[in-house]
Amino acid sequence: MRATAAARPWPHPRRRRCTRPHLPLRRWRPPSHPSPPSEEPDVRSQAIRWIGGSLLAAVLAGCAAPPANTPQEKTRSIAAGTTPPATGEVLGRSDRFVIYKPEPEDTLRSIAARFLGGEDRYWVIGDFNNISRVETGQPVVVPLKATNPMGVYADRIQTVPILCYHRFGNGGGKMVVSPANFERQLDWLARNDYHVIRLADLAAYLKGEQPLPRRSVVITIDDGYESVYRHALPVLRKHGFPATVFVYTDFIGAGEALSWAQLQELAASGLVDVQAHSKSHRNLIERAAGETDAQYAQGLEAEARAPRELIERRLPVRVRHYAYPFGDANDQVLEALNRQQYQLAVTVNPGGNAFFAQPLMLRRTMIFGDHDLEAFKARLQISRAVGGP
Ligand SMILES: [Zn+2]
Repeated sequence: MRATAAARPWPHPRRRRCTRPHLPLRRWRPPSHPSPPSEEPDVRSQAIRWIGGSLLAAVLAGCAAPPANTPQEKTRSIAAGTTPPATGEVLGRSDRFVIYKPEPEDTLRSIAARFLGGEDRYWVIGDFNNISRVETGQPVVVPLKATNPMGVYADRIQTVPILCYHRFGNGGGKMVVSPANFERQLDWLARNDYHVIRLADLAAYLKGEQPLPRRSVVITIDDGYESVYRHALPVLRKHGFPATVFVYTDFIGAGEALSWAQLQELAASGLVDVQAHSKSHRNLIERAAGETDAQYAQGLEAEARAPRELIERRLPVRVRHYAYPFGDANDQVLEALNRQQYQLAVTVNPGGNAFFAQPLMLRRTMIFGDHDLEAFKARLQISRAVGGP
């Protein structure tokens, strides 16, 4: 145990925030209106041509009709959502794609319910066809298997922004976002068809195993202030948006901090994932005065292990994600996290995360109290140019 860290009162004025705004940050600024993917229409037309050819061959070979939806598929689709599955005509089908002609009552959700096992996967069809709704009689391609799970195109790469909040309330400076602004921001995400995904979803994406909606965004909230429970949870509930709350465990139960009972309620909401933000919130790359190599290494081990063990003991969660205090890490910190089985860790280097992002050095973008809606929108970096900085 390091005496200096343990003895430090909290919240320490210098330690209130996780950013180091004085540092030069490598920043990538995307175009404010990312261009639509030029490849997808081509892929789509190729698929139509290819399936059209297959269909023609099948008809010539004596097949009366393309394969219809199986009873098993219908059962699974209905169970997965509330939208009745689509009943329009299948123009062509293989094990990879379906070409489907929508009926007047069809929606992306009803088509997803029929072919993709659940209406929630409607974005697969929307992203592939570059549409936000279907038009009656206008065929759409339904990819049955992931065609580009990492979102890599000739001119752009998909990126996933991770937003970072701290406190919620009125007044109190840059690190405090007003409840009204937070609600405006999440309302805007919902209205504009952004998909707020869980941080855990990024792990499979980075391995190339699971595609993500083109407009994916992750919400994280650092430190563990009580205002998360009071102000953020109701807005998250309103939209059913998930979020990760990174807590440093020495803070839990302190004056302005969340209590264990509140953390249990957050975890029980099914929306909030409680994960680790160190034990003491010390800067992990700075040594205390007189700290030896051995003491430093032991301290890092404790900052990685203690919050995981304590949170897992008190809450029904697995702790595999870590937010570095002040966003700082070095090789020794990464080794300590690896030993403690952490899978993802976040910095405060701004920008979206592409397929090549390092899982333990993910970029994250601060949302400050003085950001208006335009500033918020400018921070949603869902793509970057190939070869861009
Ligand atoms: Zn922090």
